[in-house]
Amino acid sequence: MIAPVLYSGLSLDRSHPTRRGGDIAELMRRQGARFTLYWRGRQLVSGTPPKVRWLDRAYGLRLAEATQGTCLLLGEDETGPLLALDISALDGGEQGPEMGGNWVWLRSVGGLLAAQDAGLLAYARGMLIWREKTRFCANCGGALLFQDSGHSAKCVNEACGSLHFPRTDPAIIMLVTDSLGRALLGRQPQWTPGMFSCLAGFVEPGESLEDAVAREVWEEAGIRVNSTTYVASQPWPFPSSLMIGFTASAFDAEPVADPHEIEEVRWFTRDEVRTFGEADRPGEGGRFLPRKDSIARVLVDGWLRG
Ligand SMILES: [Zn+2]
Repeated sequence: MIAPVLYSGLSLDRSHPTRRGGDIAELMRRQGARFTLYWRGRQLVSGTPPKVRWLDRAYGLRLAEATQGTCLLLGEDETGPLLALDISALDGGEQGPEMGGNWVWLRSVGGLLAAQDAGLLAYARGMLIWREKTRFCANCGGALLFQDSGHSAKCVNEACGSLHFPRTDPAIIMLVTDSLGRALLGRQPQWTPGMFSCLAGFVEPGESLEDAVAREVWEEAGIRVNSTTYVASQPWPFPSSLMIGFTASAFDAEPVADPHEIEEVRWFTRDEVRTFGEADRPGEGGRFLPRKDSIARVLVDGWLRG
């Protein structure tokens, strides 16, 4: 049994019947519509512990009118449509525009939020980042018309007419063990000194998830994997990934770090890893584990528990 993975398990009704063919301008005006806000990468929360700060219909419509920002449907509850609105066009200092809450980076507060709020903000963030980056047709460079309540785009060039959908980039992450039960942990040069974590990488075209696990472990550590087992996955809208977590067993060999991507990689026993600390209070040798809200940590903790 593994710990719940942050940003997963959102129980929101994504209301496909409403979404399909839905007109966002009409949905924004519906009774009970509420808005969650996004401003230049940050999202609005309030209170301690932080909760999503929802704005009511009148306030949301005024902001949408003033900013002409992207708005899209997240789903519906018994009260009405739940919408995500990008107000990045508004001015705001270091603190962001005054909206009766705090503008936060999801990664910095994710672990403090209730699971449902964390999942909802991850979903809103992933959708709005897709919209931010999807300005023109990737096929012909033509203009796009967003439809389906903001969830798809159609090229207006009649000769093209391509459809575009939100993308999710699969990335694999794996806790690799050897016949002695040791775990293969490494670190990338750009990480905070002392942090060790699981190996990870993006899935490439023409690969299964298992193929990608085997390739990454070979490339980054020179170790051959002989079996992989799926554990769990984690939405990771930083900006658009899905982290897919595995355990893998490997043939015994000494790891050799890929000089381009990995600064250090080695086998650690459970007793050694138990001496690692956290980022704010590193353990023996200054080492520490990744944050508790990451799937890397879920994999390491699962292995530590045996
Ligand atoms: Zn096109």
